[in-house]
Formats: sequence, C-alpha cells, structure tokens
Amino acid sequence: MTFAEFFASHVVLLLVYAGLIGLVVGSFLNVVIYRLPLMMERDWRAQCHEFLELPAPEQQPASPAVFNLATPPSHCPHCKHRIGATENIPLLSYLWQRGKCRHCKAPISWRYPGVEAITGVLSVVVVSHYGYSWLTLALLVFTWTLIALTMIDVDHQLLPDDLTIPLLWLGLLVNAAGGLAPLRDAVLGAAGGYLVLWSVYWSFKLLTGKEGMGYGDFKLLGALGAWLGWQAIPEILLLSSIVGSIVGLSLIVLKGRDKELPMPFGPYLASAGFIVLLWGDALSGQLFALWQ
Ligand SMILES: [Zn+2]
Repeated sequence: MTFAEFFASHVVLLLVYAGLIGLVVGSFLNVVIYRLPLMMERDWRAQCHEFLELPAPEQQPASPAVFNLATPPSHCPHCKHRIGATENIPLLSYLWQRGKCRHCKAPISWRYPGVEAITGVLSVVVVSHYGYSWLTLALLVFTWTLIALTMIDVDHQLLPDDLTIPLLWLGLLVNAAGGLAPLRDAVLGAAGGYLVLWSVYWSFKLLTGKEGMGYGDFKLLGALGAWLGWQAIPEILLLSSIVGSIVGLSLIVLKGRDKELPMPFGPYLASAGFIVLLWGDALSGQLFALWQ
C-alpha cells in the first residue's frame, strides 16, 4: 500500500497531520514575520553606509552582531529569558502559561498563537481540498508564504522581495510541472498581474500625485497570476477591492482611522488569492450568473 492509498482511506489522519504540521510551520512563520523586516532594515542600513562610503554603522549595544532567522535564539522581549523547547510548543505553551512569560510573567501577544492557529486551520483546508499529492505540498508553501506576507504588510506596509519573487518563480515551476494552470496562462498571469497594478499605480500617481500602493503589491499579484493563471486576476482584483473597501471604511468609521494614512493592500490580495485558489471555480460561476 502506498502513502497515497493509505491516506485516501484515512482522511481524518491526513487532516490531523496537516493541522499539526501547520501549527509547527505557524510557529516558524512568527519568527519570519518578526525578523525578516528587521533583517532587511539592517541590510539596507549597511548598504547605505557602504554606498555613501561612510564607516560601518555603529552596532547598538542591544543588537546582536549576527541576526537571522535562526540566530539569536528566541527570547522574551521583556526579561531576555531564553525560550526553551517546552515554552515553544505551538498553541499549547501559550495556553499552558496563560499567555504570560514563564519567567517574568509579562503578557505574550495573542498574535503568536493566532498565527499558529490560522496556519494550522488553513493547512487543513488546503489538504482537505487537494488531498495527498505533491501539488498539495506546493500549495501549502503558497499558503504559508501568503500568511507571512499578510502579517508583514500589516506591520510594516512592506511585501519583501525575498518572499514575493520566490513565490512567483515557484508558481511558474509548479505549473511547468503540470500543477494548477497551463504554463502559458501562468506566464501571462505573472506578467499581467504585475502590469495591471503597475498601470493603476502610475495612472493614480499622474492624476493625483499620490502613491496608492507599492511595488510589492505588483509583485504579489504577479505571483498570484503565476500560480492561478491570468484568468484569476480579475476575480482577485474584484474580491480584494471589495474586502479592502469594507475593512478600510469600517476602520475609518469605527476606529477613527485617518483616511489619508496609506493602507496595506497586500493582505487583501493575499486573501483573495487564497479564496480563488480554493473556491475560484464556484465564484466565477456565480459572477458569470450575475453578469448575465
Ligand atoms: Zn520574560
């Protein structure tokens, strides 16, 4: 019996595995979401100094010489207590410690277990939809990258090239191997996605003198097009604009958010891309029916 046959008859087991893997990956995504922007900032600072031929930037006493996804090990931001393996179990550690640092009792943000839980749930959704196959694994990577991009964009209004560009290439490779969309549609999707938002950006800028979105948004839509094919782009744009306007207006009305403040568009593109991946066919059927 192959793995595929085994999991075909033990679907619940497959979903439990997917959830557990999702939780562990979610825990790693928390690290990526927190550290990747800081790593980029350090890098930019160093590059600026090099370009301007200034002496190397002074090392802050609190900032470590080596800073990447693995080093230094995770620690409590309040008491610097190093987080041990038993304090790092996704969801459980947070619940067990009642959301507090074991050492100094400082509260831990609910975002950490939140990202873990969402990653777990979305992983289960993807696996329940696509079953046990190599394509499912690729789609999990797609989903996890979208989660990281969403959170980084919410925090920093930034969609790192380190995530969007590999996502785009991976989409083309997956479709070259016969994944989701014909390769021709994927290539057109990658170029078309970028070009559509690039045109919107420049039209908006020429008309109003303002910048409505960032280059990261073009790359993200290009990446979504590379995975889902050019046909998905109108749907993604429609969905993300609807959800974006609803959330944006609610924030302005309910929370008194300044409407002049730029709003990240990445989270809406990413969620729309995910929705189209899973329910695109059903949705386009509905839209088509409305159109007629
Ligand atoms: Zn602490």
